[in-house]
Amino acid sequence: MRNAVIKCLFYGCLTSGICINLLLVYFHCNHGSNQQKKIHEPTSDCSLEENMHQQMTHGAEQISKPQILVKTSEEDIPEKLRPFPVLGDDFNYSDPEVLSGFLKYGFNTVISKSLGIERDVPDTRNEMCLQKHYSVNLPTASVVICFHNEEFNALFRTVSSVINLTPSHFLEEIILVDDMSEFDDLKEKLEHHLEKFRGKIKLIRNEKREGLIRARMIGASRASGDVLVFLDSHCEVNRVWLEPLLYAINKDPKIVVCPVIDVIDELTLEYIPSPIVRGIFDWDLQFKWDNVFSYEINRPEGPANLIRSPAMAGGIFAIYRHYFNEIGQYDKGMNLWGGENLELSLRIWMCGGQLFINPCSRVGHITKKHTERKSTVMNAITHNYLRLVHVWLDEYKEEVFLRRPGLKFMTYGNISERVALRKRLGCKSFQWYLETVFPELELSMKSR
Ligand code: UDP
Ligand code: MN
Repeated sequence: MRNAVIKCLFYGCLTSGICINLLLVYFHCNHGSNQQKKIHEPTSDCSLEENMHQQMTHGAEQISKPQILVKTSEEDIPEKLRPFPVLGDDFNYSDPEVLSGFLKYGFNTVISKSLGIERDVPDTRNEMCLQKHYSVNLPTASVVICFHNEEFNALFRTVSSVINLTPSHFLEEIILVDDMSEFDDLKEKLEHHLEKFRGKIKLIRNEKREGLIRARMIGASRASGDVLVFLDSHCEVNRVWLEPLLYAINKDPKIVVCPVIDVIDELTLEYIPSPIVRGIFDWDLQFKWDNVFSYEINRPEGPANLIRSPAMAGGIFAIYRHYFNEIGQYDKGMNLWGGENLELSLRIWMCGGQLFINPCSRVGHITKKHTERKSTVMNAITHNYLRLVHVWLDEYKEEVFLRRPGLKFMTYGNISERVALRKRLGCKSFQWYLETVFPELELSMKSR
């Protein structure tokens, strides 16, 4: 089982110090990293170590880099979309400060510090989006950003990009939920720096660590804007990012809409445009990016169209606040992190809503590595996935158990409230979801 493999790798690393070596290998292998990195072929001498490293660090990642439809050469990418060069060729990847930042925060904090608390990012929108004009009569937004032990500059860039690139009349507030961070610079120093945005920021400090799922619900319960927009604490929003989301929700309050998630490289912090993709998952419940159907792209509005998406990647989306409450927020029995994105995606589709990606809204996200103990993360993910399997998958849960027989007999807490919610909302079956929203998810021979 993959969990067991990941655990063994992790504990093996702890005792032998291989972690450091792997990180060194990782930095070495990624030297000169750029756009092409995303279509990496495992042919170099580094591939074995890199694979091991990836099992350790990517296993639990939710908002992963979109890997498909990627351009193959720099010349294919219009000049304005090319990433800003951040690193010179002489950058020293074996710098101990880079290593320690990576181990503590999961990305290159030396560069993050040098970028500071705000910067410009390239406008990655398609030209068709530039012709769109939005009314001033759109709903207002509360932007909810939860953080746990986040790197100060990355967190602050998230906040300042929202303040700088959101028209004030649409931005009701930014709600920062500190999920019991331990690092000193997230205490008085943060409050001191946030002073300049006074009036727009609410800072909530959780008294115990709630995990991302409950932390978001705490943030949402304090919001007063019409629309909730959730962001991770290491994002940078792009130009005119909010209006396309508000516009879609204003047309239909049961539409939930995600931006295109651009990549902020964890090594270089380059802001890299992502292809337009939709979110799907497999029977291991692993989230993936997938090609968009040509008929979605080839409509008259072309790349400015809303793209139907069977699933959302993670914590970057907008939802009408009353609708979020009406459909049952999140499952508060879920722990820490993981699985909540799929649970919400299924609930939206099966209970009368719709989930889209709006290609005209772009938000950059640092694809950071998880620094938490793998066993803690994997336990939470397993618990959370089991809850969603038992509430939403009906007879199709057997497809999951076929692949992971060990899960069948594991406990997952009390789900009666969520089952009652599903009944109360009159939600459709998972079979309906498969037939109508995600027919590409293939059933295995055995259970047909
Ligand atoms: N987070 C939190 N409490 C937790 C774990 C995570 O508030 O117990 C925050 C974290 O700081 C980040 C967001 O939740 O802003 C999403 O977590 P992460 O970026 O690790 O998830 P991913 O991007 O890999 O899906
Ligand atoms: Mn994240």
